[in-house]
Amino acid sequence: MGRGLFPDELSPSAYDIDYEAFYQKGYRGVIFDIDNTLVLPDAPADERAAALFQRLHQIGYGAIVLSNNKGPRVSSFAQGVGGDYVAGGGKPLPRGYRQAMRQIGTDEAHTLFVGDQIFTDVWGANACGLYTILTTPFTRREEIQIILKRILEWPILAVYKLIHHQK
Ligand SMILES: [Mg+2]
Repeated sequence: MGRGLFPDELSPSAYDIDYEAFYQKGYRGVIFDIDNTLVLPDAPADERAAALFQRLHQIGYGAIVLSNNKGPRVSSFAQGVGGDYVAGGGKPLPRGYRQAMRQIGTDEAHTLFVGDQIFTDVWGANACGLYTILTTPFTRREEIQIILKRILEWPILAVYKLIHHQK
């Protein structure tokens, strides 16, 4: 399991993860961040995201988006991909992750978390005991408070990659 600020693994994107293999290992739920994880920040749900949710449901997963964004943005995105959602999630606090797991009927031992930020997504998911996958953000053009967190992410990513011998 990932610890603290360190993810269990890195992935180029949410669309490059072998969800079938994780299902074989016993995972039954996937919680996704939305912005810069499934689509560009504030972009609507697209065909690729909808196809991913459809694929996950076909495999047998419960799939849900967990966002700190407000209700309408999150609910319309969830509707677009045909998935469940938690809006105003309060990441990295545990409550949103726990709410998401309740809604898809999974627990921390059988749920993956996929997101692009260390200080919200990964930190909170680790605190809840989820398996955490950190994805590369689609764009670096972000709000100032996120850019500041990105700077803090650099040394953590550098250490992670040193430990795991990744480029
Ligand atoms: Mg994000």
